[in-house]
Amino acid sequence: MANIAVLGLGAMGSRMASRLLAAGHAVSVWNRSPQAAEPLVKAGATLASTPREAAQGAEFVLSMLRDNAASQEVWLNPLSGALSGMGAASVAIECSTVSHDWIVALGKRAQALGIPLIDAPVSGSLPQAEAGELVFLVGGENAAVEAAKPVLAAMGSSLHHVGALGCGALVKLATNALLGVQVTALAEMFAMLAANAVNLDSAFEAMAATPVFSAAARRSASSMATESFTPQFPVALIEKDFGYFIEAAQSGAAPTITAARQVFSSAIEQGLGGLNMTSVVSLYKLA
Ligand code: NAP
Repeated sequence: MANIAVLGLGAMGSRMASRLLAAGHAVSVWNRSPQAAEPLVKAGATLASTPREAAQGAEFVLSMLRDNAASQEVWLNPLSGALSGMGAASVAIECSTVSHDWIVALGKRAQALGIPLIDAPVSGSLPQAEAGELVFLVGGENAAVEAAKPVLAAMGSSLHHVGALGCGALVKLATNALLGVQVTALAEMFAMLAANAVNLDSAFEAMAATPVFSAAARRSASSMATESFTPQFPVALIEKDFGYFIEAAQSGAAPTITAARQVFSSAIEQGLGGLNMTSVVSLYKLA
């Protein structure tokens, strides 16, 4: 069993830390808002007052944070950052969905200290994090990825090593693009069908019987039909990911993603940023 630090105990990070504890690892935790750590401390985790303190003595330091800015602060803050607390035999694992350029920049800072960094963003949402069934999309050097595999196995059902550092981020952004364009398209389908007085239940039952309807579309359509917008993957997070995708794409080579991002941005302007991504259907009249 390993000594592991988990930085970031939001919706995903808290569930991932629980899985590590349940697997018998020694887990130190840190979160910007410390109250989020309370249930994990009750379950046996040690609370650290800074990322640096959490990282001291850890063999693996894993972060699950909102975005590039949070990642930069937590890893690199000169006084409290995790990298400054890590030993050279430890491995840094960035699980947050961040941009390719940022993860490569962070990798250079880690390398200067002799610390291997891998990017290991995940596909799957809260139920998968809770059940230890995340899919890890991993980039980095072989040795560090191999070392991290037993740790990641406690939180995921599969791991795909897709290339050098940063490739995990790119594959994750591509995966989310495929998800998000289905969500924005479904919202428009609901509106088009409703505007033409088609019974939505019958329409989606029929579409679900066709080979084009994906598992993600099925879940998203059901959430839209029942107007269940409790956040799992909120609008603001997928809008962020679409921004990182566009940053990584060649200029002008992502018109579909750019248009879908605009839909998510409009939803944020309408106050839907904290709701599940499927709430974009509320942008359109359904009757
Ligand atoms: P979340 O619930 O909003 O948690 C975000 C975490 O980041 C919290 O711990 C938050 O701390 C921390 N944070 C934000 N800004 C910070 C800053 N400036 N400095 C330090 N900490 C900061 O988000 P989540 O759903 O867990 O998502 C985490 C990551 O996983 C994101 O990159 C997301 O895109 C990705 N992801 C999410 C899902 C999903 O279904 N939700 C699925 C796959 C991947 P506080 O508690 O103090 O705010």
